Amino acid sequence: MIDAHKVAAARVAAAARLPYLASALFATTVRADPGSGTIGVDRAWTVRADPAVVEALPVDQLARLLIHLTAHVVRDHAGRADGLDRREHWNRAADAEINDDLEDAVPDVAPDRPEDLGCEPGRFAEHYYEAGAEGPRRWDCGSGADGRPDACEDGIGREQAALLRLGTAAEIHAQPPGTVPGGWQRWAESVLPSKVDWRRVLAAEVRAAVAAVSGMVDYSYRRPARRPHPDVLLPALVRPVPDVAIVVDTSGSMHDELLARALAEVEAVLKRAGLRRVRVLAVDTAVHAVRSVSRAAQVELAGGGGTDMGAGIEAAAVLRPRPSVVVVLTDGFTPWPDRPPRGIRVVVGLLSDGWHENPPEWARTVVIEGA
Ligand SMILES: [Zn+2]
Repeated sequence: MIDAHKVAAARVAAAARLPYLASALFATTVRADPGSGTIGVDRAWTVRADPAVVEALPVDQLARLLIHLTAHVVRDHAGRADGLDRREHWNRAADAEINDDLEDAVPDVAPDRPEDLGCEPGRFAEHYYEAGAEGPRRWDCGSGADGRPDACEDGIGREQAALLRLGTAAEIHAQPPGTVPGGWQRWAESVLPSKVDWRRVLAAEVRAAVAAVSGMVDYSYRRPARRPHPDVLLPALVRPVPDVAIVVDTSGSMHDELLARALAEVEAVLKRAGLRRVRVLAVDTAVHAVRSVSRAAQVELAGGGGTDMGAGIEAAAVLRPRPSVVVVLTDGFTPWPDRPPRGIRVVVGLLSDGWHENPPEWARTVVIEGA
């Protein structure tokens, strides 16, 4: 039947390659599935392998395929596919999420990468599913990948799977910086409890603020309507595009890495909301720099000293054009104004390593926790 020695060798090779995946790799069982023409994984972490396919793959490729299939169940691609109808497309999207990291990709089996769906790398399967181009599925990774209904009588149950996921994420988190591929890093960050929340909440707050503003319709004379008579100036119906400013606390007490990540997150949310350019103000006690940037990476985080975010919000409020949404990223050790500037919604991303002071109630606040 299955060449058990070959499977064992491949599993050891896989665990040596990605040590943080070892527990998950060894939690899977491998079972013969003659005639299926594929090697896939089911919802209960059982690798169902056609012995002929095992036979045809060199040990190294089999090892990489085991990593790939284990990644499907560790990243809960089946659970995340709930409610989706294009299962084969989801399988490819999930493959793209895994194969994002060049060193993990298997060239000949389960080959789809973000480029194959016409997407930029560095995203999650949900993005590739939405934005990716449809195409034929070249490898069936099983119900553990595409989430199709499947009677798995034994294997890993829901609770044990959740523990294996958290354990794997914690292992990844414990690795020295730079040793874990970006895709695994992103996944681990999305799973660890302290980190999952703030991104969603921050995204929701920023989106809500932007939507509230862009939903407003006013009658404005800024742009004349086409008019039948040259002497009559009619108001035009204007749907304002919200202007967003980000006020960044650059005082010495800030955590640079956390701040950079928060900034990148805000940028991504705004980009998804269709805003290409935002203005960023670097602030400690005084406003250092107001720069219009199109990428968060262009922001120089220089400053130091005491903080006054009130000064930053004030500076944002007098920008032209006037922003309607101000996002403040701070550790919270700052005086605040008594009330927000008129007509401006303020969202505060509060960077915290355990405890923080509360910003005023008139702002929507999201606590952003570090490692
Ligand atoms: Zn796959």
